[in-house]
Amino acid sequence: MSPKLKCINCGAEYRDDEIVYVCRKCNSLLDVVMEIPKVSLNEFKKREFGIWRYREFLPIEEGCEIITLKEGGTPLYECDKLAKWVGVKKLYIKYEGMNPTGSFKDRGMSVGVTKAKSLGLKSVACASTGNTSASLAAYAARAGLKCYVILPENKVALGKLAQAMMHGAKVMSVKGNFDEALRLVMELSSKMGLYLLNSVNPWRLEGQKTLAFEVIEQLGHVPDIVAVPMGNCGNISAIWKGFKEFYKSGIINKLPRMFGIQAEGAAPVVNMLRKGLNRLIPVSNPETIATAIRIGNPVNWPKAVMALKESNGLFETVSDNEIIEAQRLIASLEGIGVEPASAASVAGVRKAVLNNVIDKENEVVCIGTGHLLKDPEEVIKVCGRPIEIPSDIRAILNIL
Ligand SMILES: *Cc1c(COP(=O)(O)O)cnc(C)c1O
Ligand SMILES: [Zn+2]
Repeated sequence: MSPKLKCINCGAEYRDDEIVYVCRKCNSLLDVVMEIPKVSLNEFKKREFGIWRYREFLPIEEGCEIITLKEGGTPLYECDKLAKWVGVKKLYIKYEGMNPTGSFKDRGMSVGVTKAKSLGLKSVACASTGNTSASLAAYAARAGLKCYVILPENKVALGKLAQAMMHGAKVMSVKGNFDEALRLVMELSSKMGLYLLNSVNPWRLEGQKTLAFEVIEQLGHVPDIVAVPMGNCGNISAIWKGFKEFYKSGIINKLPRMFGIQAEGAAPVVNMLRKGLNRLIPVSNPETIATAIRIGNPVNWPKAVMALKESNGLFETVSDNEIIEAQRLIASLEGIGVEPASAASVAGVRKAVLNNVIDKENEVVCIGTGHLLKDPEEVIKVCGRPIEIPSDIRAILNIL
């Protein structure tokens, strides 16, 4: 049976060679459905570590040309000093900064661009807070496709912008926030026949499921809690789907609780859950230092809310100061350099322990979504500049 798309609301189905992003009947999100393969972990262990190791779980037909930069296979670090600070028994960071373009987006783009290529498309497009464009530009280059990007003006971290430009994307910036950039690129895609690779694209999310698979393999068991920063909310949904598929295939026999964290100034999903609403109220002017999660109207909120409900999950908001503090300690206690959005996961777990929302006995995996070098300007603001010294050893000794 080939994979197909299914509306999460009305159940309408679409073939895997149709270019459709949301349900034509009810405008809701689509999800890829396929037969759950029966493969053992031992079989996977014979293969190279990376997303295509889980080939049977990825909905790409045999014989398609695979577009890859060897994404995935990132380290899972045990962080004992950080665990003390956070207040849990065991804490791990899954360091997605080690992907080819420095964020987890590469997992999704490898599958998404492979799909674009197999559909015979010549151009791809995205709106981005930065990492999506960096990643899509690189994979489009690898595949020989044209790439169009719309960014919110002055709100994209310098490292990410540098990547998108150097990989040859046509980069445009709009006066407005990410939500407006996304609205524009969706319209542009349908007018120009570009293949849209934001996380509304369900094929892309399939690649991000592999984060769950890798955590299971590396840890050797199921953690109690998996903490994920939420922006457009695709990643937490994809990771949860990954755990469920390993569960259905019999590889694991229990499931973790998902923990979604948003920045205080951009927290529409957490606000909605706190108030017990069943619809999202967008935040019209999202603000946070963590630009990767500076999103006021997250497209994938229904999937994220389902993941949190199904997993008996947790949610929390963190302030910019809490994010910066966590970023510093992840870097200085453990040697792991992450960008601010990633640090939100660790900050959120610490807050939940302080508030007695999670037990100290828990084993927690935090997703370190992106690399420290993505946002050098934020680092200079937070850490200051180097100490200026004269070229004279005695003067230096005096200063020290
Ligand atoms: C994209 C991104 C996020 C948010 O992921 P969503 O799937 O949009 O929720 C978090 N951190 C980093 C570094 C990202 O690039
Ligand atoms: Zn529908």
